[in-house]
Amino acid sequence: MMDNEINLLGLPYFTTTVKETLKTEVLIVGAGPTGLMAANQLLRFGVDFIIIDHKSRPTRESRAITVTARSLEIYQQMGIDSEALSGGKRVASFSLYSEGKRKADVMIGEIGKGLSEFSYMLSFEQSKNEELLVKQLTEAGKVIHWKHEFISLKQMEDGVESIARHENEKVCILSRYLIACDGASSPVRTQLNFSFRGGTYRNKFFVADVHLDWKEVYDKLIIAPGDENFCAFLPMYGERNYRIIGTLPKSYFDREDITFRDIDEAVVNTLGIGVTFESVNWFSVYKLHHRGVENFRAGNVFLAGDSAHIHSPAGGQGMNTGLQDAYNLCWKLAFVLRKQASPKLLDTYNEERLPFAKWLLSFTDRGFKMMTSDNWFIRFLRKNILFNLAKGVISAGWPQPLMFRILSQTGYSHKGRSLSCSVSRQKLNFRAGDRLPYFESDNIYPLFRNPSFHLLHIGESALSENACSKINESFPFPVCIVENTLDRKWIELGVKMELFVLVRPDNYIGLICDELNNGLIQLYMKRF
Ligand SMILES: Cc1cc2nc3c(=O)[nH]c(=O)nc-3n(C[C@H](O)[C@H](O)[C@H](O)COP(=O)(O)OP(=O)(O)OC[C@H]3O[C@@H](n4cnc5c(N)ncnc54)[C@H](O)[C@@H]3O)c2cc1C
Repeated sequence: MMDNEINLLGLPYFTTTVKETLKTEVLIVGAGPTGLMAANQLLRFGVDFIIIDHKSRPTRESRAITVTARSLEIYQQMGIDSEALSGGKRVASFSLYSEGKRKADVMIGEIGKGLSEFSYMLSFEQSKNEELLVKQLTEAGKVIHWKHEFISLKQMEDGVESIARHENEKVCILSRYLIACDGASSPVRTQLNFSFRGGTYRNKFFVADVHLDWKEVYDKLIIAPGDENFCAFLPMYGERNYRIIGTLPKSYFDREDITFRDIDEAVVNTLGIGVTFESVNWFSVYKLHHRGVENFRAGNVFLAGDSAHIHSPAGGQGMNTGLQDAYNLCWKLAFVLRKQASPKLLDTYNEERLPFAKWLLSFTDRGFKMMTSDNWFIRFLRKNILFNLAKGVISAGWPQPLMFRILSQTGYSHKGRSLSCSVSRQKLNFRAGDRLPYFESDNIYPLFRNPSFHLLHIGESALSENACSKINESFPFPVCIVENTLDRKWIELGVKMELFVLVRPDNYIGLICDELNNGLIQLYMKRF
């Protein structure tokens, strides 16, 4: 191994040649939420991995603050949802303020009723998510290699050779695959020479975690776009704790040493109602970017989370999208590493996650510009048209389920992608590629917790033992058969007769058919 890497100062990175060489199936670079989720998923599937991070511990900053219903469903499958719920705060209502006037006010505590068990918006900070995911790993005896900085990688035909630095010593890690979860400035992405196209917003933004006093209730989300500035107040766990995000007043753009006390008056003026800030727990000023890669994969290396896409905090999607990237990728890696699927399966990661990232970038960009732009025309639209429509539209019942499906990431479907196939003749209200249907009256999600494929059989009576063993013999991997009676909840979704639904380990529907035979299973398995 050559000892020729140099840092930006032109000095050698290492004092010695390789101190140790580690071998693993998957190297995860970065122990933020995305990397920790990847580690937890690989653990569930029994895949050997090493996770490294150049920090010495998980983040202490609250950073991302909302956990979507889809992420909570994943936590439920992992058995850690109750810890998230008990450490989080449910948002009960939402108000839109303009110049101190309430333009819209709506109860959102059950905004997704009937759509997910987690039918609300939960505020549960990134630092707590990381703690929870770290705890799971530690309890299972897994080590997180803190203070290990990824330096370089070399792709080989059958794997990746990575170099990391640990206390000035060089560590070589040989892995079959590498997942880059190393955040927005991803050194792995840089090594791959991937472009990260997009832009940087002109405004500067601030984030402040405060303890406040006002006449409003303390579980309300408030958005207050003003002519000069924008600010949003999100409730946090505890009494009277709030996260404020907003645009920095222009007069502060060039100053480096700003504190919340410098801008608190501007924040109060933008909100337009009386509020006292009693203490400030965290304050930070930053520039926001919207950027993405064109491919989530290069050979044996995969990008996930902020290393692949970054966007404005509009809608609180960033951390959640990273969690779901990792969730989508890891079961596929497990199946390939166990030789239960061909490496071709790994191409479906990019096929399924890239379109979502692209859509999310444009969705958050449009929403964010509409709320924060100081362009006169957008200001005019916002103030005179959007806000006047807001009350009626937001308060009307119909947009709420749609908004919930989008913001909770439960509505996203892999319909039409290569792992989604339907050969049923029934006119169903769900499709291959959709997330498993949720029924408020009879939640079937707890039946789908195993780290495997599940075959859901919907019928008048259960399959015979013989039929079950024939099905199991036809699949190249174990499949859990789940029986569910063809009752009212299914009839309402268009199921009229016996139906088989093959559910992927990430609870998306792979195959739908009226009859299941060996030929059909083999045909579907060709996609693997
Ligand atoms: C102020 C703020 C508010 C936000 N609000 C929200 C919100 O409400 N909802 C939401 O969903 N998202 C939000 N986000 C975005 C969210 O924080 C990110 O999307 C999320 O952290 C991405 O997770 P990640 O694991 O992909 O990357 P990161 O959290 O950035 O983790 C990357 C990890 O890689 C490590 N690393 C980097 N380089 C190396 C290296 N060379 N070697 C080893 N390790 C390395 C880092 O130490 C870090 O631990 C917010 C972000 C900020 C800053």
